Amino acid sequence: MRTKNDINEILDLKLENRVCRKKIDAIPVIMEIIQDCCDYLQMPIPKVLFCESLSKDFQSFILRGQSYFIYDACLLEAMSIFTTCALAGFLDTDMEKLFMKLIAEELIVSRDLSYALYFVGHYHRKQYSFENRVPAFEKCNQYLSFQNYFLISHELTHLSLMQGRIIPPSFKEFIINTICSLMERYSGEDRPFGNNLHDYSMYFFQKNQDTMDDFLNALPDSIHFQHLLEESYCDYIGLKILVENYALPGVAMNAIFSALNFLIDIEVIRDELRNGLLKRDTPTVFGEASITTFFSMLRMGIASYVSHVSNLTNVMIQDYEIQWESSTDRLADFLKQVPDGKSFAKIADIELPVDEKSVVSYLIRQLYYSSVS
Ligand SMILES: [Zn+2]
Repeated sequence: MRTKNDINEILDLKLENRVCRKKIDAIPVIMEIIQDCCDYLQMPIPKVLFCESLSKDFQSFILRGQSYFIYDACLLEAMSIFTTCALAGFLDTDMEKLFMKLIAEELIVSRDLSYALYFVGHYHRKQYSFENRVPAFEKCNQYLSFQNYFLISHELTHLSLMQGRIIPPSFKEFIINTICSLMERYSGEDRPFGNNLHDYSMYFFQKNQDTMDDFLNALPDSIHFQHLLEESYCDYIGLKILVENYALPGVAMNAIFSALNFLIDIEVIRDELRNGLLKRDTPTVFGEASITTFFSMLRMGIASYVSHVSNLTNVMIQDYEIQWESSTDRLADFLKQVPDGKSFAKIADIELPVDEKSVVSYLIRQLYYSSVS
């Protein structure tokens, strides 16, 4: 039986592993949003841990019967920089600086400090186009509040599923039908349906399914499908709570697609680093077949479809005022230019002169941009 002290130790460790840059107090406006979402989901309010961490994500879990939700203000901070870059027109220098920051933070979390130093150095040499003036992007703040609402309700929906909420069978049917529609919609003269069936089969089952019947019969048992189903359900409920609380579905969808694209970029960076982007002789520049991009594109397609069909909004993905996905193209170009392992080896061999803790706090200070808390 765990004691209260054990639990505090586990919670402290969870926060420590995220690499927090400072302690922050509870944020009243966030507590209000959490309250709203829990009322909607008819669930008790979890214990909320507030932090500003380089891991930049929200997390929910149950520990000894108690539900917890970690709210990380750095996620919203990075997302606000991303949205500001987008509204400034995705300039190359802005995007490069942001990617340097995102990569450096991932490297600090995984304690690859000599690599992180390289990116922090380059980060410092660049300037955002909006750095010396307060960007007059009212929209950015509006987006940020929508994104906050959406991401919190998305994460709390995960928590409600952990507490026993069930995804309705009709939603599952709907997602299966949506996947079929997406497969059909993106096939044509230059892309036969069989190619799509192959790609989707490889993603869901890591092997080919000969016919659509085989594909559909096997789909419910695929782990990747179950994961996609849960994410899509949480997206749907998140969107529903957002749109029902704010009456601006068009703006809300733009804000959410900005958030989803930002999350894709972060996932791609994590994927690339995991696959040895910096440690191999040849960088692995992600291709169309990357699991992360495949999953993310499918998730975005489903979110757009679901919101449209369920009348949450009549805005379709091609109508967005900003082509959010161009950020991922820029990321691909950026990753191609990242030096390979050989150039890094010279830097990696340098022994850092001070203790790890001091280096980490030095690096964190260098990457501090702004706080949205
Ligand atoms: Zn999720």
